[in-house]
Amino acid sequence: MENQQARLKLKPGREKSVQGRHPWVFSGAIATLEGEAEPGDLLTLVSHRGEFLAQGFYNPHSQIVMRLISFRKAELNPDFFRERLRAAIQFRQNLKLTSNALRLVHGEADGLPGLVVDAYGPFLVLQISCLGMARIKPLLLELLHELLQPEGMIERSESAGLKEEGLEPVRAVLSGPEAPRTEVFEDAARFSVDLLAGQKTGFFIDQRDNRALIGRLAAGKRLLNCFSYTGGFSLHAALKGAQTCSVEISEPAQELARENFRLNGLNPEEHQFVTANVFDYLRQMEPEFDVIVLDPPAFVKHKSHLKQATRAYQDINRIAMRQSVADGLLLTCSCSHYLDWELFQKILFSAATESGRQVQILQRLGHPPDHPVSLFHPEGEYLKAFLLRVL
Ligand code: SAH
Repeated sequence: MENQQARLKLKPGREKSVQGRHPWVFSGAIATLEGEAEPGDLLTLVSHRGEFLAQGFYNPHSQIVMRLISFRKAELNPDFFRERLRAAIQFRQNLKLTSNALRLVHGEADGLPGLVVDAYGPFLVLQISCLGMARIKPLLLELLHELLQPEGMIERSESAGLKEEGLEPVRAVLSGPEAPRTEVFEDAARFSVDLLAGQKTGFFIDQRDNRALIGRLAAGKRLLNCFSYTGGFSLHAALKGAQTCSVEISEPAQELARENFRLNGLNPEEHQFVTANVFDYLRQMEPEFDVIVLDPPAFVKHKSHLKQATRAYQDINRIAMRQSVADGLLLTCSCSHYLDWELFQKILFSAATESGRQVQILQRLGHPPDHPVSLFHPEGEYLKAFLLRVL
């Protein structure tokens, strides 16, 4: 599978990041391509002296010219990819998660850059975000069939950077039923998931642990769930006797949230489902909730949006703090890659100052262990959440 006729050579002094096992090689670090290669080929990367450094997917059209998959000379054949997939799957099985909606492959962290595979019960949803992975898709599908025998596979490759990779977005059923829907569980909560029409890969599985936490903290209390999608946080809390109010802008998502309540034997009439813009709703509501969850979509989709997005995070957090009851809890999340912990905390500091409230950090939370982050690739971390106490 590897193109043996060509190799990519780094400029002098640019080996450091590769030696630190960072899986991305940027265009500025490249001296030359020796030989001929097609975009998406598997190539060897060498130092300016010609020493072997790593192997990976080559794409001259992307800022990330190489996505490294091996730092030891390996034969890149189907067995190599089978082993990578097998190891990733096995690791998740060892986690003994109490859910059948989980991430089986988390890109770079699993040594498979540009590939995400989520399992929803018997279905698999793939997300491909680099050209090299797109080129070996038939092999990946074959291997996933062999390893897991899924009832159906769906592709949801719709991430922001596709264009730069020379890829078109794909939303398609690759195998199995034409309109795949399934039911998944997270502890005692059950959810109906639309794998083709739902957001992201159908469900926000990365919030699993945080939903369970809010379920416990809001038990028997009043919960305001902002950006509630199909009711995840609300449902966990409602099952533990909370009074819930879910605020979401999308009516189809809100309809699914009500359906999910029914699926769990809860009466949606006994809870509130508000179809509204959270920014407006928060401003006009009465402070009556013991626990507030803010789980907005990524406000920063691109680095250049950072300033504008900072403002949006600050606004929403300031209003939520202001509307919190005395000694209330606020779980505030960001799933923006470009917003790091430090900046997020600064934003919360400013929001707290402006709100005039005293605020404590109780916990910092992120994605669950089926979404590992490689220490060599900190960019893989995106979900950041603070559990705050607002006095
Ligand atoms: N907490 C959810 C996931 C939230 S995803 C869960 O656990 O499943 C973010 C949601 O915010 C999406 O459903 C999106 O439709 C909604 N949304 C985006 N902008 C919004 C706005 N201004 N007001 C209300 N909802 C919004």
